[in-house]
Amino acid sequence: MKPLTSSKVCTLCNKNEQFFSREYSGEKLCKKCFTQSIESKVRATITRYKMLRFNDHLAVAVSGGKDSLSLLYILAKLNKFRPNTTLTAVTVDEGIEGYRNEALEIAASNCKQLKIPHHIVSFKELYGFSLDEIVQRARSRGETELTACAYCGVLRRKAINAGARQVCASKVATAHTLDDEVQTVLMNIFHGDVMRLAKEKPVTSEVHPLLVQKIKPFCEIPEKESALYAYVKKIDFQDTPCPYASEALRNDIRGMINQMEAKHAGTKFTVFKAIERLRPALEETAKKEKFQTCKECGEPSALDLCKSCELLGHVR
Ligand code: SF4
Ligand code: ZN
Ligand code: ZN
Repeated sequence: MKPLTSSKVCTLCNKNEQFFSREYSGEKLCKKCFTQSIESKVRATITRYKMLRFNDHLAVAVSGGKDSLSLLYILAKLNKFRPNTTLTAVTVDEGIEGYRNEALEIAASNCKQLKIPHHIVSFKELYGFSLDEIVQRARSRGETELTACAYCGVLRRKAINAGARQVCASKVATAHTLDDEVQTVLMNIFHGDVMRLAKEKPVTSEVHPLLVQKIKPFCEIPEKESALYAYVKKIDFQDTPCPYASEALRNDIRGMINQMEAKHAGTKFTVFKAIERLRPALEETAKKEKFQTCKECGEPSALDLCKSCELLGHVR
């Protein structure tokens, strides 16, 4: 075998063949160093943001896609060396015909392999309607303003919190990647909802006894790298897109950020860090907004009727 020239050798171990070029850092990594770098980054993020305490029971929101399964694998791996966290996977069944059943099976088989308990919480059980039924009702009323994702996003957030409470978790981990975080920042700005920038952070504040604290161990992992981790580790994940996946604004923003990142490597990190620096000032103002209890469902809410109940009111 011909020896590798130094330009094709991993810049970290100086031994194995290069496989991935990390533009924003200049590293050119072999498969082993790449997967190890993702695992150490996640460990460092958990430590930096003090995401976990000794003996936490962590509910991991697992959709069956690449990001959430990569996260579950990494958390299970980290926990093997320091087994001081109990893990339970929680999957939300929104009720999307021809899509969610496959994801549920994939999530279940991964959990079985990792010996992690798997809990499913469904829209139908919680709200009396599946997402398909909600969309059908909205369409039959001629509603065009709210997309399926607009309903799904609000109801799923509440369902994950309910699922985490059902398994008595002390925290819930979601697989939001760096890309998701940056897209959300820009979406909040485009929607004019700047106070959400204070709330959407790597570790949410404990603002209500019924809200399980949320942590995002992937907040500094680009989506591309989380996908690559799943491929290299041969994780079985669902890659069929959701039939409703067409949220126009988020897709436009994703395209715009990816273009910027391709031209100016590191843009995503710059936006993420900029918001991190700005957040303390925003939080000072956000403190004045008090959390209340929804008059209909009794769950935490910014107004006297929570967003879920408002949306479900339209559906009913
Ligand atoms: Fe829900 Fe939209 Fe995601 Fe489908 S694409 S799971 S409808 S948020
Ligand atoms: Zn290497
Ligand atoms: Zn409510």
